[in-house]
Amino acid sequence: MEGELFMMDRSLPPSRFSGLVLSYDIGGTKVHAGVVDSKGRVLAEERVLVDFSVGRDQVIRQWVAVGRRVLASKPGLSRRVRRVGVASAGPLDPIAGKLLDPTNFGGWGVVPLARLLSRGLSERGIARKVVLENDAAAAILAEHWVGGARRLDDALVMTLGTGLGTGILANGRLVRAGRHLHTEGGHVILKAGDDSARCGCGNLGCAEAYLSGRGFSRRAEARLGAGVGDAAEIARKARSGDAPCRELFAEYSELLAVAIHNFAVLYAPRKVILAGSFAAAADLFLEPARVRLEQLLMRRRHGVDFLPKLEVSRLGNRSGLLGGAYVAFSQTASSSPGR
Ligand SMILES: [Zn+2]
Repeated sequence: MEGELFMMDRSLPPSRFSGLVLSYDIGGTKVHAGVVDSKGRVLAEERVLVDFSVGRDQVIRQWVAVGRRVLASKPGLSRRVRRVGVASAGPLDPIAGKLLDPTNFGGWGVVPLARLLSRGLSERGIARKVVLENDAAAAILAEHWVGGARRLDDALVMTLGTGLGTGILANGRLVRAGRHLHTEGGHVILKAGDDSARCGCGNLGCAEAYLSGRGFSRRAEARLGAGVGDAAEIARKARSGDAPCRELFAEYSELLAVAIHNFAVLYAPRKVILAGSFAAAADLFLEPARVRLEQLLMRRRHGVDFLPKLEVSRLGNRSGLLGGAYVAFSQTASSSPGR
């Protein structure tokens, strides 16, 4: 029965939205939990940094504690929440509700996160069912629900944060890889053997090693020294005309265009939405990436025009949270009688 709940096809939109859900957005550096209603309004939320060095069990206890605090933050919230949606960095198995040794968590192995959170969050008289989804899949579902992909059947989101995730809608459905897994667009190799781009997955030259916020900062540091600052600081310097920092963004634009080209020829999205914390620097790379993408797709604009629109997510840093909420709501729909 549990398998059946998780098996549901997240075709869009969910047939029924009601009640409140608790949602989590779990990333490589922080956790964001919130209670969300059926219109996508966030009624309570909390964001905290996660120190993965304290180990798996301690980190999961922290996630449980954050969720419980959010539920307790306003009177009456807790008893109205029966469903929990988790948008997490992957890889993960959404059907089994398990993390599969996530790339940026530090050697966790396989973790039955849905079961552990459900146990930690259930209270006397209130059982809470937890559904797990890849954060980038959740992000595109959120965009379709309340963001820039509304009324679009074909769209792609790239989450530019600690890692690089891809979430894809094609023909109105969430695209899965085989084995019910998620498309791992961040680990498409852009420059095989590039020693300057070591990815958390163990390979060299993955898209994530160049295009994630963390990848960008690491490469900047290797080139310009440890004093260069974090991604936000490098962006600030580039805006004020610092040549070496502007050069980093020029390279970034080129590689972003190459990555989007590769996704466009595979999935033909009408729009590519950039989400995640590094999207805040889009003023430094989006326009040159668009120009380069037009060149790369020049011969693919006749008949079917493969050139997607590029834009930054309007959901800001709530994209993962809203995606987790969507997943929890659509699970409610899928488990309704008659399915
Ligand atoms: Zn990789």
